[in-house]
Amino acid sequence: MGKNVHAHICGICDQTKDEGIFLYQLYICEDCESKIISTSPKDENYQFYVERLRAINQSFYTI
Ligand SMILES: [Zn+2]
Repeated sequence: MGKNVHAHICGICDQTKDEGIFLYQLYICEDCESKIISTSPKDENYQFYVERLRAINQSFYTI
């Protein structure tokens, strides 16, 4: 009521979140954003995130 919340579906975790950023056409929630930033290339999750992002934009910059 009276609140105009724009929730978006995160392109990484597929969950609807209120807080996040748009990276190109991909919406990334705060949780995933901080995970991506804190994930090192040696981490197996890193590859998962990179693949997700690559699927959206081929020229995605190197994290
Ligand atoms: Zn997410």
